Amino acid sequence: MTEETYSTDGAECPYCGHVDDADNSDGALYSDDMDEWTCGSCNKPFKVSLYIHYTWTATPYDDVAHPEDPEGEHNDA
Ligand SMILES: [Zn+2]
Repeated sequence: MTEETYSTDGAECPYCGHVDDADNSDGALYSDDMDEWTCGSCNKPFKVSLYIHYTWTATPYDDVAHPEDPEGEHNDA
């Protein structure tokens, strides 16, 4: 009878629903070998899986404007 929780803020306790904010964990909740967490509210340990999500945006150096793209018009050089 386990119930999985999902949060983008930190580890949400599957027992009591308390969210331990990742930003307040001293980096512990961002560690990729972290697989267990103890709830800061009810002190029960539970299993944690961390999903790291990366995105990349690439822009060419010679930012020659596409006429239909107003963001591309940086002609101050
Ligand atoms: Zn809890």
